[in-house]
Amino acid sequence: VVPVLAVVGRPNVGKSTLVNRILGRREAVVEDIPGVTRDRVSYDAEWNGRAFTVVDTGGWDPDARGMAAMIKAQAEIAVGLADAVLFVVDSTVGITDADEAVVRVLRKSGKPVVLAANKVDDERAEAEAYGLWNLGLGEPFSVSALHGRGSGDLLDAVLSVL
Ligand code: GDP
Ligand code: MG
Repeated sequence: VVPVLAVVGRPNVGKSTLVNRILGRREAVVEDIPGVTRDRVSYDAEWNGRAFTVVDTGGWDPDARGMAAMIKAQAEIAVGLADAVLFVVDSTVGITDADEAVVRVLRKSGKPVVLAANKVDDERAEAEAYGLWNLGLGEPFSVSALHGRGSGDLLDAVLSVL
């Protein structure tokens, strides 16, 4: 049985870009327009010789009313079907109310969570990730999904809980 990793987080934090980085190919739909990924899409992935399924989530219109509730509902579905969760936040934005709502879903699930502080494109941006220790989800793994920075360490952490 292949374990399932769900990638969750607010629209536009870079989930689909990170999924493509994990896959080593551009398959998940990345858009400059937030909320473009359809509800949930599964892909076959592999890291260090271990196969797993990665589930990209999305499909919310960030301008829609009740967006935070939709994100929470989607996170609940994705987390429910996953063995572990990769929670992605945008280090250039920090933690929003919608992020907090997802964190509550993750805590309640009891599933293992790896925290990715995305968009840390260079060493200077590294400092932004430190504040994410406050989430109480353990070490924030700073990563640049766009450039690949830190993605190896992040995947090692993911595989250690999957
Ligand atoms: P999603 O809605 O969470 O799936 O986010 P996307 O993967 O569609 O990315 C949203 C936007 O953020 C796109 O314009 C990406 O190019 C950009 N993005 C994603 N990862 C990074 C990153 O590591 N650094 C920077 N600077 N931009 C990123
Ligand atoms: Mg997406």
